[in-house]
Amino acid sequence: MNYRKEKLIITIALTGNVPTKEMNPNTPITINEIVDDIIKCKEAGASVAHIHVRDEEGNPTCDRELYKKLLEELERRDCDIITQLSTGARGGGNTAKWRGQMLDLNAEMASLATGSSNFTTQVNANSFELIEELANKMYENNIKPEIEAFDLGMIDNTKYLVKRGILKPPLQFNLVMNVRGSVSGTLRNLLHMVESLPEGSTFTVSGIGLSQVSMLTMSILLGGHTRTGLEDTILYDKGILATNQMLVERVVRIAKELGREIATPDEARSILGIKKIKRLQC
Ligand code: MG
Repeated sequence: MNYRKEKLIITIALTGNVPTKEMNPNTPITINEIVDDIIKCKEAGASVAHIHVRDEEGNPTCDRELYKKLLEELERRDCDIITQLSTGARGGGNTAKWRGQMLDLNAEMASLATGSSNFTTQVNANSFELIEELANKMYENNIKPEIEAFDLGMIDNTKYLVKRGILKPPLQFNLVMNVRGSVSGTLRNLLHMVESLPEGSTFTVSGIGLSQVSMLTMSILLGGHTRTGLEDTILYDKGILATNQMLVERVVRIAKELGREIATPDEARSILGIKKIKRLQC
């Protein structure tokens, strides 16, 4: 396999649900801070923005109005990046209605975990019923799901959901390596997960914490794509706080050294099979 054949998609996961300004003052929390970081990261090479929003107290939320304002601000500032909204389990409620309330907005992608696992302080609970409801809403709104697999079992669950006609190939996965409570970030685990994907899938890798560099480098070498950002690691290295931009710049440098070119947002759309949208319709 020639890993250099396809250009590299870099996703920037800016905020997540866990980081705070106390943990890393560079964490973007307000809509303006998040949009400023998206623009900087896009200029550095990111083509997908994985977006979470926070309420006025800085707590994670799925509030549709906040997502709407953020998408409008990106449009107002003329930032062409693929928008991927989070439907994760830590956004303040755990029904499909709450977690999917923003899926009627005009975004291009959304995250979809296909199984349950542990996070450090809570359960990442995703029943088949909840997954099905979120997936249906995504397809109704022309949103491409990114399957978040925290473990091998979630890849098997995905195959089951494809068989039932709930998920529609070709699929895009994010293999989330090294979350405490799920699969650890070893090269062997990542290889096993990549080799277990349904044929014809595309994949991105997230390396949580200090597994970041090894996991992302391996994904580049396997022909996969990469996700980085403060959601995945607040540290650039031991004792060094990261910024979103620094993390994107590092992935670009590694990719260039390995001979892999970086995809623009339009090239990423073509790789992922998604159509460009006009955000002003939201
Ligand atoms: Mg997320």
